[in-house]
Amino acid sequence: MNQATYDVIVIGTGPGGEGAAMKVAKEGRRVAVVEALPEVGGNCTHRATIPSKTLRQVVQQLTEGASLNGVQYPDLLKSARGVINKQVAMRRGFYERNRVDIIHGRAVFSDANTVAVTRPDGNKVSYSARAFVIATGSRPYRPSDVDFQSPRICDSDTILDVQHSPRSLTVYGAGVIGCEYASIFRSLGIKVNLVNTRSQLLSFLDDEIIDALSYHLREQGVLIRHDEQYERIEADDRGVMLFLKSNKRIHSDYLLWAQGRTGNSDAMGLAEIGVEVNERGSIVVNENYLSTVPHIYAVGDIVGHPNLASASYDQGRFAATHLLFDGCEYRLGIIPTGIYTIPEISSIGRTERELTQDRVPYEVGHSHFRHLARAQITGRTSGMLKILFHRDTLEILGIHCFGAQAAEIIHIGQAIMAQPGAANTLMYFVNTTFNYPTMAEAYRVAALNGLNRVT
Ligand SMILES: Cc1cc2nc3c(=O)[nH]c(=O)nc-3n(C[C@H](O)[C@H](O)[C@H](O)COP(=O)(O)OP(=O)(O)OC[C@H]3O[C@@H](n4cnc5c(N)ncnc54)[C@H](O)[C@@H]3O)c2cc1C
Repeated sequence: MNQATYDVIVIGTGPGGEGAAMKVAKEGRRVAVVEALPEVGGNCTHRATIPSKTLRQVVQQLTEGASLNGVQYPDLLKSARGVINKQVAMRRGFYERNRVDIIHGRAVFSDANTVAVTRPDGNKVSYSARAFVIATGSRPYRPSDVDFQSPRICDSDTILDVQHSPRSLTVYGAGVIGCEYASIFRSLGIKVNLVNTRSQLLSFLDDEIIDALSYHLREQGVLIRHDEQYERIEADDRGVMLFLKSNKRIHSDYLLWAQGRTGNSDAMGLAEIGVEVNERGSIVVNENYLSTVPHIYAVGDIVGHPNLASASYDQGRFAATHLLFDGCEYRLGIIPTGIYTIPEISSIGRTERELTQDRVPYEVGHSHFRHLARAQITGRTSGMLKILFHRDTLEILGIHCFGAQAAEIIHIGQAIMAQPGAANTLMYFVNTTFNYPTMAEAYRVAALNGLNRVT
């Protein structure tokens, strides 16, 4: 058992771990990352964000070019593999250039300052550090009564191993991951059933956006069933039968289980060293991402909400700053949501429902993409941007967008919302000249539309 000592050991090389490791390294401290997978990048790169977004992009391009003929799901997976390899090479380069040691293997705490890492060859090596950042991410939740050994029953990890195009797919769970995969598979011409355990799709979104998403998914041919719960799931060589408590049965070639995730906190020796973990497997942290042990931080999916790669990276940087300087002036601001259904969705700030509940006197301004020159030129006319603002102060309170490039467009509004005091104002969009024709013009149109309502 060798022994090496570091200032900081980061466990996990997803966005959370990378953000933390880079910050510590750039401050000149000795840092190592431990990674259980054979390559760096985390689940984000290998099983989650990167492959799913690549599949989605390729499908969308093919659909828009009307050249989907003969394209099979495994062809899309090859494209994803290409992007994954580029991401891994780039991220490995970051660690190497910043002299961060990469230790491959699974880490378990043997005491509060030491991890035992089981290397791929089975050997165990111990490493010590003065501080730790745990960024071990999450995995799909697998209930014990669903047979994930069957090749016909997948989760968001194993759907990437399916080696032919199904003719039909049932997606159980209509959260972000379920809706995104329903969009991808439907766009490939595959019959999709989307089974929602709740009464609405993505109920955290603004109602108008939820309605638009439901309309577009149905229009594309996705069969959505709300308020359903599984009773049992049976799979054989020919497909999967989903038995619902409502007595319905849904048969399809494959079933994608997209209902919940669990934090990767088990079997890490956390309880033994006093790191508190909640019932969902998430490590309990304070506002500085510090766990219940004063030199052990945790960031990313392992701490639960918002379970986004974007936020995980920043959490890693902020935790590392706090660790190094015993304080951090940064805080995660309002985090935007990007949902890569087809069409895509993005939003930031409060919804009409929330503002109404809080009795905030707000107004709304709309811009429909079909009226924008840029959208007409590109042929992507389906979509809408809406701005919610305070009717007295004109402060922007929320922005909700669906349609082509929504996840990019949202950042223009985010930049104005992040301005302090009176600088966060709808008037920015009225008084600023934007390039023409652009999708950004939607902000000017929506702002003028809203202003008309208050004057
Ligand atoms: C299908 C899907 C699509 C998504 N799409 C988006 C999106 O579009 N945008 C977005 O912002 N987010 C998206 N997410 C969420 C995003 O992927 C996660 O929020 C992000 O990966 C979390 O990063 P992380 O650093 O916490 O950990 P992860 O990326 O989960 O990485 C954790 C790493 O820790 C390693 N590890 C675990 N335990 C140990 C151990 N004991 N020892 C050593 N190593 C260990 C794992 O091998 C893994 O590599 C998506 C998620 C899924 C499932």
